[in-house]
Amino acid sequence: MARVVILGSGISGHTAARYLNKSLRKEHEIIMVSPNPNWNWIPSNIWVGVGQMKEEDVTFDLADVYKRKTNIDFRQAKALSIHPEGSKASEKPFVTVEYTLEGKAGEQENIEYDYLINATGPKLNFGATEGLGPDHGHTVSVCTPSHAIEASEKLQSTIEAMRQGKECTIVIGTGHGMCTCQGAAFEYIYNVEHVLKDAGVRDKARIVWLSNEYELGDFGMGGVHIKRGGYITNGKTFAESLMVERNIEWITRAHVSKVEAGKIHYEILDGSTHEIEFDFSMLIPPFAGVGLQAFNKDGGDITSDIFAPNGFMKVDADYTPRPYEEWSARDWPKHYQTPLPIPSPVLENTLVKNPSVCNTLI
Ligand SMILES: Cc1cc2nc3c(=O)[nH]c(=O)nc-3n(C[C@H](O)[C@H](O)[C@H](O)COP(=O)(O)OP(=O)(O)OC[C@H]3O[C@@H](n4cnc5c(N)ncnc54)[C@H](O)[C@@H]3O)c2cc1C
Repeated sequence: MARVVILGSGISGHTAARYLNKSLRKEHEIIMVSPNPNWNWIPSNIWVGVGQMKEEDVTFDLADVYKRKTNIDFRQAKALSIHPEGSKASEKPFVTVEYTLEGKAGEQENIEYDYLINATGPKLNFGATEGLGPDHGHTVSVCTPSHAIEASEKLQSTIEAMRQGKECTIVIGTGHGMCTCQGAAFEYIYNVEHVLKDAGVRDKARIVWLSNEYELGDFGMGGVHIKRGGYITNGKTFAESLMVERNIEWITRAHVSKVEAGKIHYEILDGSTHEIEFDFSMLIPPFAGVGLQAFNKDGGDITSDIFAPNGFMKVDADYTPRPYEEWSARDWPKHYQTPLPIPSPVLENTLVKNPSVCNTLI
């Protein structure tokens, strides 16, 4: 009998759990450790952020689904550290977790594993830019359902002000030079534009796209080609056309360095610095790993062996910078795995691209 522990029941962790549940024989154990009682279809938060979907449309109760439909043992807890060699007291590798479940909150437990899937996803790193984000800053976010609800409420107040005759500036995009999720903001800006039109206040709004992309339509991955109506169009032409048609301005190659109430400071790649005032702004934060630690058998800290400085787990993909022509499919292995020679595999399942990680166990 083998025990698989999965850390993080987000898009990839939940997918891995369901595949394992379907494919593994019943004598194997699947334990899911995740701090949030709800699953969230994150891409649809952009609809919650304009009031066209409710939180309950984009979430469901994880414990209930696992109990009714699966062989998955759900522990509402967050992982704190990985011990891939075990410890002096335990031969088996384990993770230390801390419960977030009401009535058990703060309790810690060591959970042993034969296989570990790390699917803890990104930490929303608002702290990277002074004044960014909903909790301690001046901008809103659509990264979680509660953020998106707040964004929708603030958008409604801005619409109300425009109905009273106020001219407003709306800035949507990325909140740091190292952001990687431009697509979410790109979708949200069109939702906002549409809602403003519906509310009859589009003529009162200046809408600006502010992004760290090198070119519009880059989406942080060197652009895309879109096949439509018999034409193949590059992302730059496609995105620029969409924005011109809707009278949306754009600023690219921008690193947001600071946000104050109603004012964004940013630097362009050419070194020039600028400011833009806003009435409503949704800026996506940069991402980091969630901050898991790792220890060897003697209790020595091996976090920097297993995790990169940004907190994401090191994997056996080859990300060495080199010219485009020198990249090959082999650089992205089918199963991301820690390259360290540790006794039991730790698999990285961050980002939905890799649910096939489960094949390793079958
Ligand atoms: C607004 C928005 C729209 C998007 N739209 C798209 C889209 O249209 N298409 C697309 O491909 N991608 C989209 N993305 C990106 C996509 O949502 C992410 O790539 C995807 O969610 C990553 O999946 P994941 O499982 O790695 O992380 P997540 O889905 O973030 O899941 C991580 C899980 O780990 C849990 N966790 C965190 N810390 C711990 C811990 N210490 N211990 C245990 N568990 C922990 C979290 O609670 C969560 O359940 C969008 C992102 C955003 C923000």
